Amino acid sequence: MTLRTQQWLEADRNTVFHASTPLGQYARGELNGRIVTGAEGIRIKDSEGNELIDAFAGLYCVNIGYGRVEMAEALYQQARKLAYYHTYVGHSHEALIELSRRILAKAPAGMSKVYYGLSGSDANETQIKLVWYYNNVLGRPEKKKIIARERGYHGSSVAAGSLTGLPLFHAHFDLPMERIHHTVAPYYYRREDSTMSEQAFSRWCADQLEQKILAEGPDTVAAMIAEPVLGTGGIVPPPAGYWSEIRKVLDQYDILLIADEVVCGFGRLGAEFGSMYYDMRPDLMTIAKGLTSAYQPLSGAIVGEKVWKILEQGTDDWGAIGHGYTYSGHPMGAAAALCNLDIIEREGLVANAESTGAHLQQRMRDTFAGHPLVGECRGIGLLAALEFAADPASRTPLDPALKVGPRIAAACLQQGLIARAMPHGDILGFAPPLVVTPDDIDDIVARTAKAVNRVTDELVRSGEWRPARD
Ligand code: PLP
Repeated sequence: MTLRTQQWLEADRNTVFHASTPLGQYARGELNGRIVTGAEGIRIKDSEGNELIDAFAGLYCVNIGYGRVEMAEALYQQARKLAYYHTYVGHSHEALIELSRRILAKAPAGMSKVYYGLSGSDANETQIKLVWYYNNVLGRPEKKKIIARERGYHGSSVAAGSLTGLPLFHAHFDLPMERIHHTVAPYYYRREDSTMSEQAFSRWCADQLEQKILAEGPDTVAAMIAEPVLGTGGIVPPPAGYWSEIRKVLDQYDILLIADEVVCGFGRLGAEFGSMYYDMRPDLMTIAKGLTSAYQPLSGAIVGEKVWKILEQGTDDWGAIGHGYTYSGHPMGAAAALCNLDIIEREGLVANAESTGAHLQQRMRDTFAGHPLVGECRGIGLLAALEFAADPASRTPLDPALKVGPRIAAACLQQGLIARAMPHGDILGFAPPLVVTPDDIDDIVARTAKAVNRVTDELVRSGEWRPARD
C-alpha cells in the first residue's frame, strides 16, 4: 500500500464514523478501508490505482453512471441562480415545480403531491407521520400500527429502522418501536414446503398478513409498507400473484399501502416504478436514490389523492401541518433530479434496464445454473442476485461461519468487480448503473464466475465444504 493511502486511512480512522462498520476493528486498523479518488461511467478508481467495475452502482443509486459533465453543469448553473431557499408556507422555485410535475406524470395514476426530503429514511419517517395524521383526521386514533416485512429495508433512523425487518438494525438499539410489526417475506426460495407453487405461496403470504391483521385488530392497523422487490434483504422478487393477493387483504381491512420505491423507482426493474411493474396500486410512494442518481441527496414522499384530501381537511381544522425540513425541496437536489430525468429519458435508460437487464438475468442463469454452490439466480431488470447454498438440490443453507457471500464478494474485488455481499444470508447482489451495455454485462458475469469458482475450489481444497453431488 502506498504511503499516501496509509496516511489517508490513518487520518480517516481517527476522524470518521463510518456507516455499517465494525467500529473497533476499523479504528484498530484490523480492517482496511478504500479511498475512492474518482469515478467515470460504471467504474470507480481508488488511491492505489485500482479501477473497479461498480456492479452495484454505489448503493444501487448511481443509475446514470459516474462523472456526467452535463450534471456538473446543471448544478453549477443552479448554484449560481438559486443555491437555496426554503419551501415553508408556499415558497417554491422553478426547478421544484417542474420536477414535481415530471415525477407525478411518471407515477401511477392517482398520485397527487410530493413532499421532499434528503434520504430514503427521512422520507419513510414522513410517510409514518402522514399515515398517523390521516387516521387522526378521520377520527380513528387507534388505527396507527404499520406492518412491514421481515427482510424489508426502509432505512436506519428510529422509525424507518423499525420498519426495516433485519435483526442487525434492531438488536441493541431497542428497536423496533411500538406500533411497528412485521409479516413474512415473500421469499419463495426459502419456502418450507418445496411442493408449494408460487401462486400457493403468494396466497400463504397474504394469509399470514391477514392473520397478523386479525391478531392485532383490523381497527388498529393503518398501513403496510413494502418494497416492490425486496432489496437489501436479499434481492427477492415476489412470487407470481403476490401483489394482487396482498392488495386484496389490504382493501378488505381499509389499510393503506406505502410502496417503498427507493431502489425500484426510476427504471431499475425496466419499468418507471416497481408499483407499475407489479400493479401494486399504492396509496403513498417513497422515492430517493435513482431520483437524482445520487448526484445530490434528495428523496420524496409521494402522497396519493385519497390521503391528500384528508391532509387538507386536517389542516383546515387544525392549522398548518407540523412537518418541515430546512432542506425540503432544495434547489440543488431539484436541479440534479431534473438533469437526471433528462438523461434517463434521452438515453432510454428504462428501456435499457429492461433489455440489458434481460441479458443480465439470462447470462446469470446460463453461467450458474447447475453450479454446485449456487442455489438460485434471481432478479428483474438490472437487479439480480446469486444465492449460494451448501446443497442446491435440497436448498440447504451454507454454514454462516464460512462467510461464503463475503468471501465471494472479496474474490470479485480481486477480479476488479464490485458486487455486494448482501447483509443477511450468502447472497451476492448486482445492481449496475442503468447505462451498462450487454458487453459490460458479459464482462461482469465472466469476472463473477471466476470469483465464484475460485472460492468454490478454495472451500473444497480446505475441506470446509464439498459438493453435495458430483
Ligand atoms: N428504502 C429502501 C428500499 C432502501 O433500499 C433504502 C436504502 O438502501 C432506504 C429506504 C433508506 O434510504 P437512505 O439510506 O437514503 O436513508
